[in-house]
Amino acid sequence: MKRRRSAFTELVGAGHRDETLARTVGPPVQKGSTVLLDRAADLYDESRPTYGRGGLATQQTLAHALGQLESAEHVRLFPSGLAAMTAAMTAVLRAGDEVLVTDAIYKPTRRFSERVLRRFGVEVRYHPARLEPEALIGLATPRTKLIVMESPGSLSLEMQDVPAIAHLARSRGILTLIDNTWAAGLLFKPLEHGVDLSAQSLTKYVGGHSDVFMGSVATRDPGLGKALDETVWDFGWSVSPDDAYLMLRGLRTLPARIARCGESGLQVAASLAGHPRVAEVLHPALPGSPDHALWKRDFAGTAGLFSFLLEPCPPEAVDRFLDSLELFGLGFSWGGFESLALACDPQLGVRLHEPPRRGPLVRLNIGLEDPADLIDDLARGLGTIEG
Ligand SMILES: *Cc1c(COP(=O)(O)O)cnc(C)c1O
Repeated sequence: MKRRRSAFTELVGAGHRDETLARTVGPPVQKGSTVLLDRAADLYDESRPTYGRGGLATQQTLAHALGQLESAEHVRLFPSGLAAMTAAMTAVLRAGDEVLVTDAIYKPTRRFSERVLRRFGVEVRYHPARLEPEALIGLATPRTKLIVMESPGSLSLEMQDVPAIAHLARSRGILTLIDNTWAAGLLFKPLEHGVDLSAQSLTKYVGGHSDVFMGSVATRDPGLGKALDETVWDFGWSVSPDDAYLMLRGLRTLPARIARCGESGLQVAASLAGHPRVAEVLHPALPGSPDHALWKRDFAGTAGLFSFLLEPCPPEAVDRFLDSLELFGLGFSWGGFESLALACDPQLGVRLHEPPRRGPLVRLNIGLEDPADLIDDLARGLGTIEG
């Protein structure tokens, strides 16, 4: 008689079901490090997943959806938006190369360039955020391998003529990478304008609820897709299926949320533009902005993130203003459903081409609240700053 297997053994193998799953609206959250292969011959067949680190059903579904959003052939996921940017740079740069970076780049991307790229023998040079495309290409040397753009730029929201820069770069054999987080892959499609690599922090608008980190890099070029793949494997990056599920859930409502936040943001921006304590509103979608024509030509809409300059006042007055706000959280990040405010001046010191600014810079993330309430809150808060 066959001996009954012990509970130890039974329980290790218990509960596996092979039936196909009931179809739900969202993808299954497939958790797995080990992937079970059918036959020994499959163990080293690299044409299919043999290990979970690179992502299984949930991550693949998200990557596929992002590919549709960005009209990209290849999308890779990373544990954060910063990791997406550093991965894209690492995938294409090598010792002896030079990279040209906009001065308005997200500060941690700059820190990576300073601390890591330099250490590995890559020369990093910064240029003014609004430098004309011809002048930017004029900075290139035979060693220039990559141009890194961010448009609108972090905190100060300067726009770049991305199609022109991409076109000129390509004609010189220089690759282009953009941090497209403000547009969330939705309002602006860099790959359709000749950019080689489009990165974004999904943590912002795609996640949309300020509770999960992830980043993506999209490309149409198979060679760059392969270089990104290799970078993912070489560095050992992995994203969790639970987080990928949340990102995919956020993606469903992205257009509705960003449209509402963008529209409210424009109303708030217009109210600030007329305020006596406000020197200037920095918002490319606001008519009268120096970048308005570029935004109108290239973008299908606006996000709800913008900044403004106060009339000159001491830092304590800026803090008093921020502390008095009732509807704006004080905090980093943006793209969530809730409004946030941030004093920017402590972050601007690293910039090399920062134009003299009239007064302190404040950034607002406009969320889903009623814009009339936000406008009242800001007007009351500005009243705490003496004229
Ligand atoms: C927040 C942000 C990032 C980094 O995203 P994380 O997911 O927080 O790492 C990159 N670029 C821009 C423009 C950002 O605002």
